[in-house]
Amino acid sequence: MRVVCIGAGYVGSVTGAAFAALGYQTTVIDIDQSKVQAINEGKSPIFEPGLDTLIKTYAGTTLNASVEYDAVSEADVVFIGVGTPSRPDGSADLKYIEGAAINIAKTIKPDGYTVIVNKSTVPVGTAEHVSAIVEEHSGLKSNVHFSVISNPEFLREGYAVEDVFLPDRIVIGTLNERARTIMRELYSKLIDLEQPYEIIRQLGFNPQRESGLPVYFETDTRSAEMIKYASNAFLAVKISYINEVARLCEAMQANVLEVSKGMGLDSRIGNKFLQVSSGWSGSCFPKDTAEFLAASRKHGRELNVVKAAMESNLEMHAYIVEKVKQKLGTLYGKTIGVLGLTFKPNTDDTRHTQASFIIRGMINQGASVKVHDPQGMEMFHVFNPNLAVTYCHAAEEVADQSDAIVLLTHWEDYALLQWSDMGNRMNHKYVLDTRNFLSAGMMNQLGYHYEGIGIGNSQ
Ligand code: NAD
Repeated sequence: MRVVCIGAGYVGSVTGAAFAALGYQTTVIDIDQSKVQAINEGKSPIFEPGLDTLIKTYAGTTLNASVEYDAVSEADVVFIGVGTPSRPDGSADLKYIEGAAINIAKTIKPDGYTVIVNKSTVPVGTAEHVSAIVEEHSGLKSNVHFSVISNPEFLREGYAVEDVFLPDRIVIGTLNERARTIMRELYSKLIDLEQPYEIIRQLGFNPQRESGLPVYFETDTRSAEMIKYASNAFLAVKISYINEVARLCEAMQANVLEVSKGMGLDSRIGNKFLQVSSGWSGSCFPKDTAEFLAASRKHGRELNVVKAAMESNLEMHAYIVEKVKQKLGTLYGKTIGVLGLTFKPNTDDTRHTQASFIIRGMINQGASVKVHDPQGMEMFHVFNPNLAVTYCHAAEEVADQSDAIVLLTHWEDYALLQWSDMGNRMNHKYVLDTRNFLSAGMMNQLGYHYEGIGIGNSQ
């Protein structure tokens, strides 16, 4: 079986490398020459733990990359993993999907059968839309020469390699039996856990699966497309909820760490996504909630809960700025050090990160801001070219003459900093830890005014 992955970004490069590792002849196609070149040279085009080694192992054998679509003509399965950014009204912009569909149509084999798989997060009805584009530009017939199906991706950046080999669930959206049979065969190597576990172990991971075998779930196309949005929006709601509870904990002298632990003991609730933060952000939740809400409005069924979670999330970003301001009296003329620009650790992805909202909020009130991130500074600068911040190449530099440090991303590196030295460099030893990540006992012992989020003065 031959596989093509269109898009060499966070989803496409990991998916392509994984199928290559499972033994399928795989071609990753991207319009970005630098990403294609990276893969062919055995390097990862993005920062993702384990991906460099994986690509290095299979590049030139089962894994190849190209800017040309030629490999589509030989493929049994073509995954589309291109970006689906937001339009100004929140709805998903399908221009990259449509561009990929036209190119597929021009190269697809006319005398066989190809499964075209939307792996990108796309609105309900997109498989039908892609199918119509391919029919129009190829002259071939849907469900005779090809089928377009949905197979949403649930990987988490930072854990993408582990997630792609050991997923909780594989959702296949199509009622077409021929497409289902091909997809079952393709994924059979992931369902049999032995090979994926072995690959993951060889990469140095120590996988701890909680739920055993991945669940292989077949459904219709539109429901599969909806599952992805409904899942992401649900997780966003869960985070917004615990962040609101955290704010209330501060007002009512309770401790959100204890509250979320106690809540998570209920198996109906679960303990995941109950960790406090400065708000959810990143390349998926903001755009996916925006599209889901826009779609619900278009169909006269506004998702009020999702709308509230989105508003609450923006309030959470603003709450962080306000908390620093209250501590310092004013932000005007103050120097703030920010640790962490990515929306979570172990990624270089700073698309729609909360850091840009929070930093902008502090600068607008007259603060000077110095920033550090182990991987994300380059991309942050690309997405925020006019934001007047000082980029520090060592985390210690953000402490120099600063009036406060705000820890936004819980990179392990920040727990390992010499916090006694950091304090000596600061004007005022105040740390706001938006992830409740550092040891409060240690920080207090070192003489910091240390604050987390949602930690009231419980007795
Ligand atoms: P990305 O921006 O990192 O990668 C997309 C890639 O597609 C880019 O390299 C771009 O050059 C390429 N591309 C665009 N048009 C193309 C074309 N016509 N032909 C070939 N290549 C083309 O995006 P991503 O983060 O990988 O996300 C891709 C999709 O997967 C999105 O819909 C996203 O919502 C979804 N998704 C992302 C994640 C994640 O964690 N990043 C997780 C699950 C789902």
